[in-house]
Amino acid sequence: MTAGADEDRFARLHDLIVDLLKELEREYARARHEALCDPLTGLPNRRAFEPRLEQEVSRARRYGRRLTLIMFDIDHFKDYNDRHGHRSGDELLKRLGRMLTRELREPDLAFRIGGEEFVIVLPETNLDGALAVVRRLQERLRGDDRIPVTLSFGVAEFPTHALDAEPLVEAADRALYQAKAAGRDTVRLPDGSVPGAPEPGGAPAGGAGQGSSGQAANGQGGNGTHASPWAAVPPPPVRPVEVGFHVDEDLPASIWLNGRLLRVRQVVVVPAVGGPEEPERVFHVSTDDGDYRLFRRAGRWYLEGKA
Ligand code: GH3
Ligand code: MG
Ligand code: MG
Repeated sequence: MTAGADEDRFARLHDLIVDLLKELEREYARARHEALCDPLTGLPNRRAFEPRLEQEVSRARRYGRRLTLIMFDIDHFKDYNDRHGHRSGDELLKRLGRMLTRELREPDLAFRIGGEEFVIVLPETNLDGALAVVRRLQERLRGDDRIPVTLSFGVAEFPTHALDAEPLVEAADRALYQAKAAGRDTVRLPDGSVPGAPEPGGAPAGGAGQGSSGQAANGQGGNGTHASPWAAVPPPPVRPVEVGFHVDEDLPASIWLNGRLLRVRQVVVVPAVGGPEEPERVFHVSTDDGDYRLFRRAGRWYLEGKA
């Protein structure tokens, strides 16, 4: 065989391999899309939801932002199917999916996580902002006689109700259960209270009072309207500490407390409130010795938590 013929064969083989790789890539993208997307509504599914929520919670933790989760479920959907047929039920789910896509803005994300159960992730959004979204959806639904159902909503906020993705989902699920128990077509927080409604103590049950834009502008402890995840703990001792920071990040890595080293496992950055009496920097830290509030006042670091 001549050298020219060899070259020809190699060129053909090369083209064949390139075509195969391209085909494989297309097939992979298609399979991935199918695995993460609900074919009925076109919304991302539960498999897509879980890693995405983890990612958003990590981001919120890192930058000291809030994030809310709205979980909702169609009321008495079984009855709807029984009365109008399963096909008509499918059609309704499709319309609801389209409505969600229309009503939500970047960077808000909607997922179909179960048969007639959906979840919305609202990054950078507090309870007031989430409630505004719920109200808007309820309004659109009432104005659309082609989606003749009501929805029950559960809302949970990071870091108020949970410090991690999975417990946040559980909190929203608890809230949704409370909405169902309250008679459906309504919205609840994980403790069963109505967001925005006055608590017995006088403060609103949810929302940091930052308006309806949903931007989480304030930190915890600013005006006392936001229950801290540690709110149930009686006034804890405050002790001076030394703090070691990660080299390339401005986050605490270790804390020396009376000669004892506490390793920091998880940090929630709490935005500074400002004002002469307020600490300059605040973190909620999860250490190998439990959870604490770490703050700097007048250049000194203090640890607030159990004795
Ligand atoms: P509740 O108010 O307590 O949520 O009552 P429900 O009837 O909505 O709840 P239940 O869990 O008893 O029933 C869920 C129904 O949702 C039953 C099931 O047929 C329907 N469903 C779930 N997935 C689909 C789907 O993909 N298409 C249709 N058409 N129906 C579905
Ligand atoms: Mg239902
Ligand atoms: Mg359900």
